[in-house]
Amino acid sequence: MYRSVTLMGYRVTGSKCLTICLGFTFVMGCFLASLPITSEKPNLQISTTDSKKKLAIIVPFRDRFEELLEFVPHMHQFLIKQNIPYHIFIMQQKDSNRFNRASLINVGFLYTKQNYDYIAMHDVDLLPLNNDLKYDYPKNGVFHISSPQTHPKYHYSTFIGGILLITREDFESVNGMSNNYWGWGLEDDEFYVRLKDAGIKVKRPENISTGTENTFKHVHDKTYRKRDMRKCFNQREVTRRRDRVTGVHDVAYRIHSTHNVTIDSLPVTVVNVELMCNKNATPWCQCPEPAKAKKS
Ligand code: UDP
Ligand code: MN
Repeated sequence: MYRSVTLMGYRVTGSKCLTICLGFTFVMGCFLASLPITSEKPNLQISTTDSKKKLAIIVPFRDRFEELLEFVPHMHQFLIKQNIPYHIFIMQQKDSNRFNRASLINVGFLYTKQNYDYIAMHDVDLLPLNNDLKYDYPKNGVFHISSPQTHPKYHYSTFIGGILLITREDFESVNGMSNNYWGWGLEDDEFYVRLKDAGIKVKRPENISTGTENTFKHVHDKTYRKRDMRKCFNQREVTRRRDRVTGVHDVAYRIHSTHNVTIDSLPVTVVNVELMCNKNATPWCQCPEPAKAKKS
């Protein structure tokens, strides 16, 4: 039995209909096959975040667990509003030497440099509060988030500690940070001189309406979290001078282990780092205890 249908105004029988339909399908198929190559491109560009620079937040760390539990969710809430692709790396010092913030940052840089475009050297106890502090990729210089005008504690003009954004290229070009700073302090000031000598500008947030009291929360009780200010051997003299020898290229370390953990469901990488101390070059990586030092 033949059925007849109306197609585009023509009255046609079943067999003719089949031929026309097959032909039509073939032509449409060819047409559609030619489409995706050109039409999908703009969509891809809109949906992908690959073009956005990736930030590795490098946190030098030892024995600051409570601060860490506050830091991770805080940073997530803060950076999600800015649409910054970031990941947090906790560089945990796992050796018996005094704390070495700069060497941990060097190791953090080496650990992340293949996959990240810029780093934030970030104290675990300094939480940004003002949403005008932008963690964007720093162009033409480093970006010092915790400026002397707004840091709760340090107000001298060459201060660059606390939170500093720097590109992979700039960090490498100054040979990272000095490895000579065991114990608290001065490693950031030495890094300032490295940047200055290399002609790298230090930029800071502008038009910030908050001040030293309300731009950051500094989770740091000085009796509960004592700063290791001991100076032994010739530490004082050596660490006052610019170090032209050590840096990211010669930091001596071993990665003991890494752990991908979550804090309040947020992913964080903990890198356990064993720093090696050259006791001939920097004997102050282990100071005698104060009581012993007095006797000798
Ligand atoms: N830090 C740490 N354990 C220590 C000493 C320092 O984790 O025993 C890390 C931590 O990230 C801290 C940063 O180094 O925020 C800077 O040290 P600290 O807070 O003592 O310096 P401040 O800027 O308060 O003088
Ligand atoms: Mn602190």
